[in-house]
Amino acid sequence: MVACPGESSLSREASFAKKMCEIGYRVAVSPECDVAIVGSGPYALSVAAQLGARRVEHRIFGPPMKFWRDMPTGINLKSFAFATSIWVREAKHTFPEWCRTNGLEDFEPCTMASFAAYGMWMKDRFVPHIENVEVSKVAAAGDGRFELTLANEERLTARRVVFATGLSNLAVLPDVLSGLPKDLVTHTFYLSDYSIFRGKTVAVIGGGASAIEAGALVHEAGGRAEILVRDDQAIFHGKLSTKRSLYHSIRYPNSVLGPGMKNRLLQELPLGVHFLPEWYRVRLVRSYLGPASPWWIKDRVLGVVPIFAQTTVIRAEPTGSRARLVVRTPSGAERILEVDHVIAGTGYDANVDRVSYLDEGLLRRIRRLERAPVLSRNFQSSVPGAYFVGLLAAMSFGPLFRFVAGGKYAAPALARHLAGRRSAAAS
Ligand SMILES: Cc1cc2nc3c(=O)[nH]c(=O)nc-3n(C[C@H](O)[C@H](O)[C@H](O)COP(=O)(O)OP(=O)(O)OC[C@H]3O[C@@H](n4cnc5c(N)ncnc54)[C@H](O)[C@@H]3O)c2cc1C
Repeated sequence: MVACPGESSLSREASFAKKMCEIGYRVAVSPECDVAIVGSGPYALSVAAQLGARRVEHRIFGPPMKFWRDMPTGINLKSFAFATSIWVREAKHTFPEWCRTNGLEDFEPCTMASFAAYGMWMKDRFVPHIENVEVSKVAAAGDGRFELTLANEERLTARRVVFATGLSNLAVLPDVLSGLPKDLVTHTFYLSDYSIFRGKTVAVIGGGASAIEAGALVHEAGGRAEILVRDDQAIFHGKLSTKRSLYHSIRYPNSVLGPGMKNRLLQELPLGVHFLPEWYRVRLVRSYLGPASPWWIKDRVLGVVPIFAQTTVIRAEPTGSRARLVVRTPSGAERILEVDHVIAGTGYDANVDRVSYLDEGLLRRIRRLERAPVLSRNFQSSVPGAYFVGLLAAMSFGPLFRFVAGGKYAAPALARHLAGRRSAAAS
């Protein structure tokens, strides 16, 4: 049962959201708006709540918290609860507080399902005007505005657009698997229901958290999984001890990114990374906080699901209704593996060209760092009025922005900027 504070405790942001629904509906659905937010996860919700509090007219599109609601059951957050709040200015709306109100774990591990429910509660409270429809195209309208086409064919224009679609479109399937038909290979991003693997043999490719969790989920669903890891080993995080000595707490202070001085610095100086030399920032984003598996999955895979390290897939092809993989083993010998399905836990690429709803013309004008958009300190790309948050902002702002925790810094900074620009334009 999810608790919901009474009307009397409605904050300024929540009152605005309520009003938007009651009397501002016509304004909210105008075919011309000031700010359009594309996306419906923690970042988008937080940006919308901040814009609401600042009375910036906006529309927000997408199926609320879909990424989290679609997570397979049995999986937990990797982050601590206190690092996974959808940030609003109003007190008493953090994820740990919501967990305590609802009698749930409030530190770690917290289930994906509880985070999804918390997100929906935040949506109801602060962003009830969200429109549950995807954006299928965003193009330049020619007068500095943007034209958005929605999946229901509706069109609108916006003066500014915030892109907050998380990992959608960014899942990477390695070239070596491209010869397999779609019904034989699936990226973990698209998997919610592992019961389809009951009685099946499955090769899981990858050594990060997604692959290791997929291996466990296939096994628990009654399938037979093998996990093929290219690196020397699969890496697991340790559980943070609740009884740390004073020395350890000072030497390795805890943070939203886990314990450690560097993590704490990234938390305390969230926008500082933006000002680092480009070469250093790229190296930091690429190499820091890799996709190690969480401690709570360890017992569900080690000794339960075979993990083959130093094993690389060198060829993949269909054979009848199955997939045949040729893999190179640590000795250099080749081994053939025939399976019913291949799961690719092969990560994500912060490549703006992959974002399918962005029009070609608009894409061409977006300056890149690596494959991600170059962003100003206000999260604005080289196309005036086009802003990015979440993973696509990480190359400009650092690893913190790959996680929900980055929203605490991104959303207020962006909302302040958008509200300021509106007043500047009006005066
Ligand atoms: C397996 C896994 C576990 C993770 N665990 C954690 C964790 O524990 N803690 C953490 O901080 N991070 C975790 N992450 C990283 C996580 O993806 C980001 O922190 C998070 O997604 C950031 O939120 P977001 O708002 O940017 O994106 P999302 O939460 O992905 O939200 C984006 C939303 O946009 C919607 N959308 C997509 N396309 C469109 C469109 N065209 N129009 C409208 N809407 C659209 C999607 O449906 C989705 O709801 C995990 C990632 C993975 C893959």
